[in-house]
Amino acid sequence: MYKAIRFRKALLGPELKPVDNVWMTIEGGLIAALGTGEGPAEVPRHPAAVAIPGLVDCHVHLALSGGADVEREARASHPDARQDLIEANAFSHLQSGVTTVRDLGSPEDAVLHAVKAGGLGTAQAPRIVAAGAISSPTGHGNFLSRWATTPGEYEEAIEAIAGLAAHWVKLFATGGVITTGTVPGATQMEPSLISNVAAAAHRSGLAVAAHAHGRDGIRNAIEAGVDSIEHFSYLTADEAALLNGSRCTLVSTLVATERFVSSDQRETANPEALAKILVHAPHERAALELAVTARLPLAVGTDAGTTFNPHGFGMQEQALHLNRAGMDPASVLRAMTVNGSRLLGGGAGYLDVGRPADVLCLDADPLEDLGALYQINEVIVGGRPVGT
Ligand SMILES: [Zn+2]
Repeated sequence: MYKAIRFRKALLGPELKPVDNVWMTIEGGLIAALGTGEGPAEVPRHPAAVAIPGLVDCHVHLALSGGADVEREARASHPDARQDLIEANAFSHLQSGVTTVRDLGSPEDAVLHAVKAGGLGTAQAPRIVAAGAISSPTGHGNFLSRWATTPGEYEEAIEAIAGLAAHWVKLFATGGVITTGTVPGATQMEPSLISNVAAAAHRSGLAVAAHAHGRDGIRNAIEAGVDSIEHFSYLTADEAALLNGSRCTLVSTLVATERFVSSDQRETANPEALAKILVHAPHERAALELAVTARLPLAVGTDAGTTFNPHGFGMQEQALHLNRAGMDPASVLRAMTVNGSRLLGGGAGYLDVGRPADVLCLDADPLEDLGALYQINEVIVGGRPVGT
């Protein structure tokens, strides 16, 4: 556990301002004091070139493996095996510099149960902000959700999820890729239903994440007042204009699509999922470019756990996708730290007094080259280096 530490360079505050010779003291897992120069006493200098806030991955599925057919695998999985998978996947995120994740759905709420039971045992893990998901029995994501069809059933499910100490509810405004029988562009909840359910979740103190690929689903979710929209693959200028006046944040998970499409194993996937992802990949790329051009509020996820999308280093790939879509490195890094933490209401977000001491120590400066995110020297969570 570090009590004090000094960095050659650190990106400080919500603007991620590069500052040389930064020292910080750490108390109770938080940054207690911060300054430049030698520090209050003989503070050891960290060997890394630059310190940035730990990354915030706003969309993962810790209880899914990222294999060829996660739907079939999840349906067949045994609860005891899930705990081991969750711990291993959580540690993979941590090793790749992610210090906070939001889990957006697991079979039988396995992740919520694990977090409520006091975390992940002795294993080191990122901070986990967990959601309970609700879908219809045949809807997208039904294998990682509670089932509901009527408003009353949705309210019962919300109550149960709140009872598991969740912070978020995940809804499915449209169909999706990895669930058989659903269509990504098609709506899966009527506008009045999604509005009623989002309002009920908010009344119970839960924030709402809406999975939405198709235009109608995106619009219904925005109008329902959800807090985040996941994927937004068919976003157009019309929905972008609606988003401008809302509190809603978009969460890009493009890496999930890119990993599936570029996998040399893709022919072994569920054929229906493969056919759907090939159709929608170009739309999702264009939607991200639109979101960047329109400067919409954007946070970053990986959807890790989905088909051919294993846990770990997805945020590094996302950084490159965001950069290709038109974001400069500073904006990419803010989206992956500050914006994510604001959306989740948790995690470090940025390095300042009073913030959690979650630090990603890199051997090169990611403001100069985002590839530096792969050059991890050490990951620190709450002042404790990972692996110690
Ligand atoms: Zn997902």
